[in-house]
Amino acid sequence: MFLTITTTGTPERPATDLGYLLHKHPDKAQAFSTSYGTAHVLYPEAESGRCTAALLLEVDAVALVRRGKGKGRGGAPDAALAQYVNDRPYAASSLLAVALSSVFSSAMKGVCNARPELPGQARPLRVEVPALPARGGPDLVRKLFEPLGWAVTAEPVPLDTEFPDWGDSRYVSLVLEADALTLAEALRHLYVLLPVLDDAKHYWVAPDEVDKLLRVGEGWLPGHPEQRLITSRYLSRRWSLTRQATERLELVRLAEADDSEVEEIDNAVEAETEAEEKPTPLAVQRREAIVTALRQSGAARVLDLGCGQGQLVQTLLKDPAFTEIVGVDVSMRALTIASRRLKLDRMGERQASRVQLFQGSLAYTDVRLKGYDAAVLSEVIEHLDLPRLPALEYAVFGSARPRTVLVTTPNVEYNVRWESLPAGHVRHGDHRFEWTRAEFRAWAEAVAERHGYGVAFEPVGPDDPEVGPPTQMAVFTQTSPKEAKAA
Ligand code: SAH
Repeated sequence: MFLTITTTGTPERPATDLGYLLHKHPDKAQAFSTSYGTAHVLYPEAESGRCTAALLLEVDAVALVRRGKGKGRGGAPDAALAQYVNDRPYAASSLLAVALSSVFSSAMKGVCNARPELPGQARPLRVEVPALPARGGPDLVRKLFEPLGWAVTAEPVPLDTEFPDWGDSRYVSLVLEADALTLAEALRHLYVLLPVLDDAKHYWVAPDEVDKLLRVGEGWLPGHPEQRLITSRYLSRRWSLTRQATERLELVRLAEADDSEVEEIDNAVEAETEAEEKPTPLAVQRREAIVTALRQSGAARVLDLGCGQGQLVQTLLKDPAFTEIVGVDVSMRALTIASRRLKLDRMGERQASRVQLFQGSLAYTDVRLKGYDAAVLSEVIEHLDLPRLPALEYAVFGSARPRTVLVTTPNVEYNVRWESLPAGHVRHGDHRFEWTRAEFRAWAEAVAERHGYGVAFEPVGPDDPEVGPPTQMAVFTQTSPKEAKAA
């Protein structure tokens, strides 16, 4: 397996800086032992005008098979492994990606202690991979690399040059050229996309692969037109992992937005309520309304779905009526803040046994959500695109089916009462919609009807005679224990 990286330079910015960037001296040939064989790094050319680094991976096929058979992690599929041993020594693949990341790990992270200014500099780069297994052919290769700023030459490699009518193999000979990319960007693209094209990951996909993909894909994977295919292939089509990664990628923007959410609303409302001589911020009033409704329902085990930064979980913990409180959010960042807020790591054993936070998406059914007395969706539904709302509806009312469900959402009619809110604007940049009272009522009643619940509505905050309250809350109570059959 063979890959070269070439850059060109000038006397002021010599191409041999590549040696600093890769942390490998151009005058030396070096060998590194990796878990799959030996990786050699050498420089076929090293002039100030042009410098090429080559990575050659000698795969130890026997060790590979042994690894698979012996101490495979959590049941590595041996048969699948063995069948790939044949072409491994010659074809670039996910093994090459693994070698790239272990031999050039600092370069991939964009770290260069000796010359800290170098990693940030974009430069002309040329990458050559003479034999790349590419399921999907040259077309897919172009679709994957071109959006990232590469000019792509991908020639199919014939199965056998002596017998041209046998057709092409699944290998391409690949040349990538970019005028201005940083080396770190280039390595991250290769690290993800080589195994994607190979489409046959050789080892068991560990749960932390999702984190790795998100880390390495930062800055280029969200928004890539082939994001779905990349994610699903990278994670070897393991549906649950793919789903997680896709969700999380889609919500990267959201995760960034949600930090400011609570403060933003609180501040706006604080300003408003001061004028109205109501001293309590709306977010606090909302939590009070939720706690009251939960107590009235007699719930002890409560889910806070889309718990954000954990304010409600914190409030519920103070009330011994709630014996088990579970916060669920799709945003890892929100959960990290929640866990800090709750001081989960310093909590006494008894308190700690009452609370749990986990990551999950409400757009999918989740067995972990079954069997609770009540679920709260506080200011969550408006963060989902309308077409996804039925999925949330099914996950909560169809699958999890707690006895009580509380849903709060902004009442858009009230927005005119907010001086700080320009006309026609929603309250937060990430709100996909804000409903009138009639719209919310129509949705809630239909949901209740479909799933065997009754529903009542309560205002939260000052109930304006004309436009209603700033927050509207629906209290759903299960009327039939079985899920109503969808019509
Ligand atoms: N319930 C909190 C936070 C509301 S902000 C409160 O009342 O203050 C909305 C929260 O919903 C965010 O934390 C966001 O990450 C989360 N969220 C959005 N879509 C989600 C989904 N599909 N699954 C789970 N959580 C989601």
